[in-house]
Amino acid sequence: MTLSYISTRGKAPKLGFTGTTLAGLARDGGLYVPETLPALPDISGLLYAQAAFSVMAPFVGDDIPPADLKNIIDASYKVFSHPDIAPLHQLDDNFYLLELFHGPTLAFKDVALQFLGNLFDFILSRKDARVTIIGATSGDTGSAAIEAFKGKKNADIFILHPRGRVSEVQRRQMTTVDATNVFNIAVEGSFDDCQNIVKALFNDETFRDDMALSAVNSINWARILAQVVYYAHAAARLAKPVTFCVPTGNFGNIYAGHVARGLKKQVGGAQIEKLIVATNRNDILHRFFAGGEMKTHAVAPSLSPSMDIQISSNFERLLFELQNRDGATTGATMKTFRETGAFKAPAGIMAQLKKGFASGRLDDAETLATIKATHDKYGYTADPHTAVGLGVAENWRAKNPETALVALATAHPAKFPDAVKQATGFAPALPPFLADLYDRPEKCDALPADPAAVQKYMRERAHKR
Ligand SMILES: *Cc1c(COP(=O)(O)O)cnc(C)c1O
Repeated sequence: MTLSYISTRGKAPKLGFTGTTLAGLARDGGLYVPETLPALPDISGLLYAQAAFSVMAPFVGDDIPPADLKNIIDASYKVFSHPDIAPLHQLDDNFYLLELFHGPTLAFKDVALQFLGNLFDFILSRKDARVTIIGATSGDTGSAAIEAFKGKKNADIFILHPRGRVSEVQRRQMTTVDATNVFNIAVEGSFDDCQNIVKALFNDETFRDDMALSAVNSINWARILAQVVYYAHAAARLAKPVTFCVPTGNFGNIYAGHVARGLKKQVGGAQIEKLIVATNRNDILHRFFAGGEMKTHAVAPSLSPSMDIQISSNFERLLFELQNRDGATTGATMKTFRETGAFKAPAGIMAQLKKGFASGRLDDAETLATIKATHDKYGYTADPHTAVGLGVAENWRAKNPETALVALATAHPAKFPDAVKQATGFAPALPPFLADLYDRPEKCDALPADPAAVQKYMRERAHKR
């Protein structure tokens, strides 16, 4: 049996799992979603990688032989530094943290990107094809993508970051990777300039085809799928109904929780109740859940930069479902949003949404206060992204003490030492495998914010395909 994937805008061809993975964005501008949701097998008692196989196999179908899928999963999670991959840390009665930062770059993006890197490698080797991955990063995604694709035979990876505007830990995690297929470009400009260059390169059809350009951004279905696993696995381990609180930017992580919740449960399956969206001062989603209008504001920098986002691209997947999986309606809503910067959800849709979701926000001062309070109360050091989730979670617990609540810890505190130090007075140490990060040589080239300069650079360096 092979599951088909359809576009949220209804006009792109249906694809199987591997086709969806390679496509990323659908040709009609939509996002791929499974045509039907498979059932969740009983995963109680399974180790993480075993659970990952059980959860993912029905979504992959016949596209990849089971033994190969197992190998891809095992290779992806054996690089994690904690034996449980995604350990649950109990803070209090009915209150847990799900630590997702034990991967090579210390942020939850490793969980999905390690899998995606090995998956791409498998699919491309089988097709005897080669791609050029390009991406713009304001921090966490770039290093996770580089770690996932370094040394892969069938891909070169070029990551653009705004020069001088990512943290030193983040920059070093990207520039100290020593592999002949990894290229770091420091653009003389802003993150928006980087993103615009990437868009311009994708819009240049000759260049796109010559280089076989590919992206691994957070709308890729395979990334969502890898994230479904830890929700199901955490709920199965707790063996009681749970609510998750998720520090949210692009809505990829929490959307995966929604998918996990929707899987038909077999005996021992995970029961997921509410999903709580936690945002920083860039609170478009919180304002939407509170008032029913999705309206963009300018992005303001915060202590949790990986959530500094004004348009949460994965939200379109949820919208498609709420609009009865009608691609034309979803396409029209997204068009209004793009053109006017706003759309209003009908009351019926908001009522449906509120059954499954709640939301909250924390500004920078509240984030620092939460880091301090969490340290004083539980002896636990949280990074600023995790703290946004913890602060919103504490507010929820005060009103819903009976609920088992799991807050997602999305980054290691040492990834954001300045904010942690500001809150607690001490800077957390990097884990041993990164302890010499500041001594490793860096490899990076600076280029002007000009698509032509980036094209020339890439043509000169990419390996032959
Ligand atoms: C990317 C990121 C987020 C936001 O996740 P989304 O899937 O974009 O909602 C939160 N915390 C950290 C540390 C991140 O890197």
